[in-house]
Amino acid sequence: MQRRVFLQALGATGLGLTAFRSALALPTSLPAGATGRVLVVGGGMGGTTVAKFLRLWGGAGIDVTLVEPNATYVSNIFSNMVLTGERTLTQLGFNYSTLSSKYGVKVVRASVNAIDPVGRTATLSNGVRLPYDRLVLSPGIDFEPLPLAGTIENKAKIVHAWKAGAQTTALKAQIESMTKADTFIMTVPPKPYRCPPGPYERACVVADYLKRVKGGGKVIILDANPALQAEPLNFGRAFSVTHKDIITYVPNAVITGIDADSMTVTTNSAGTFKGKVINAIPTHKAGALITESGLGLANAPGPNGVPGKFAGVDVLTYESTAVPFVHVLGDASATTQPKAGHIANAEAKVCAAAIIQLLSGGAVNSTPMTNSSCFTPITKTTASWLSVVFRYDPVTRTMMPTGNGVTESLDATSENYEDMLKWFTNLMADTFR
Ligand SMILES: Cc1cc2nc3c(=O)[nH]c(=O)nc-3n(C[C@H](O)[C@H](O)[C@H](O)COP(=O)(O)OP(=O)(O)OC[C@H]3O[C@@H](n4cnc5c(N)ncnc54)[C@H](O)[C@@H]3O)c2cc1C
Repeated sequence: MQRRVFLQALGATGLGLTAFRSALALPTSLPAGATGRVLVVGGGMGGTTVAKFLRLWGGAGIDVTLVEPNATYVSNIFSNMVLTGERTLTQLGFNYSTLSSKYGVKVVRASVNAIDPVGRTATLSNGVRLPYDRLVLSPGIDFEPLPLAGTIENKAKIVHAWKAGAQTTALKAQIESMTKADTFIMTVPPKPYRCPPGPYERACVVADYLKRVKGGGKVIILDANPALQAEPLNFGRAFSVTHKDIITYVPNAVITGIDADSMTVTTNSAGTFKGKVINAIPTHKAGALITESGLGLANAPGPNGVPGKFAGVDVLTYESTAVPFVHVLGDASATTQPKAGHIANAEAKVCAAAIIQLLSGGAVNSTPMTNSSCFTPITKTTASWLSVVFRYDPVTRTMMPTGNGVTESLDATSENYEDMLKWFTNLMADTFR
């Protein structure tokens, strides 16, 4: 029953579990013979997908260069399972060899340090200046500083592990050092943050690990938000039934201080908490290229009147509303869609199709659709899911959820867990292969 609901949700956009390749935003009438230079910055979920589909759909006339400092992209998706030993970071590594060999994307290993929107060039960390007709930025996120006190050595132990890599390994070691008498504290930042279900997923897999491997323990979630930000039914059940002896969920817990010497977290009104491990996820902002370029790219208003830290874009093309010929995708952009890898992949296809049209003087699709699906391990063998399909609304000029909005599974099951493995394989193949 649940599986059928999920497949129906995906089927609404032609997206099957095994048929990602020709999925969302598939242009049926893209012009042949588009020409131009597109520079893509950031080889993550958004940047790699847009580079691939510009060549796949646009043909050899579009010269595509991808600039990314790392030889291997380490997927954040599934990185919570590295913490509990069910995956390794190596297993989550994806390289750019297919992008070059199969699609003819030029991959440059460097960072972009500066953009000249008038001369339409980008300057790389190696000093090279590359020209563009269209620039696509998908640099992901950066973090605001935490209110952290303590010795330098102790402060270094407070990690977020919200960008898979060295911090993931460090947090794994900290969790392994716990006993059943210990407490794991996790702080959830105010929205918007990447992967809305991600913190609650992490709490579940850590709780499951502590129960299975250590015979017990405590997980305290200090959420700066007033309520669960995703899958309220699934996580509500997971916290109150599946992991009820381990997880305590505290909403409205805005962090005012973290003392790394005494390992205590102080909140505005929810009290003070002490733990053996503190996994503090800081408030998010767009990658430095957006917030520090001096070009006004971070022009979208933030929640509650707070100045924004993400890029305003036209969701028909993902072109910046501040700087022409510059497009911003994925977590760095401010849209009504979640900050997630699946949606970054879908946004990238809308953007690729639009750029092909813009380079050839054609008409951009005025009714794009995107889809976000997310599977969440609740235990070592069960998972839940959510899915939402977005359609462009010409009145608000935003992507609006279709139908009943977000659909979530009715239960965490082993069948969902198997589907989760297939979903991940297909999403990553659609992005990197
Ligand atoms: C624990 C966790 C679990 C998650 N689980 C899921 C999930 O189940 N499903 C899901 O859909 N999403 C999930 N996500 C979210 C997903 O990982 C992100 O939303 C997605 O990676 C965003 O893609 P992006 O292209 O915007 O950024 P990224 O994938 O982070 O890529 C950004 C890239 O830009 C590069 N870069 C940055 N600055 C520069 C520069 N100046 N020059 C050149 N390159 C630069 C970086 O090196 C990086 O490779 C999860 C995230 C976390 C942390």
